[in-house]
Amino acid sequence: MLNCRDVGTNATEFLSGALPWRVNLQVVWHLLRCGNCRLAVIQILTLLRALGRRQPKPPTEAQIQAWMSALDHSNHQH
Ligand SMILES: [Zn+2]
Repeated sequence: MLNCRDVGTNATEFLSGALPWRVNLQVVWHLLRCGNCRLAVIQILTLLRALGRRQPKPPTEAQIQAWMSALDHSNHQH
């Protein structure tokens, strides 16, 4: 299992699709359960969107939408 520190370390690679799928899944799993990391990833996502083409391998818009809605969804409990 990844802890918050691991997720933070891997966040940008996760978002740029550079992680092995196994690690990727672990990050997603952690994000579903950890509000702090969700917030952090959302902030990075926002940044990545702003930077756009400067990323060597930016996530597609569809990917970002999917993450955003998944994260939003699990955030709507209060
Ligand atoms: Zn966490």
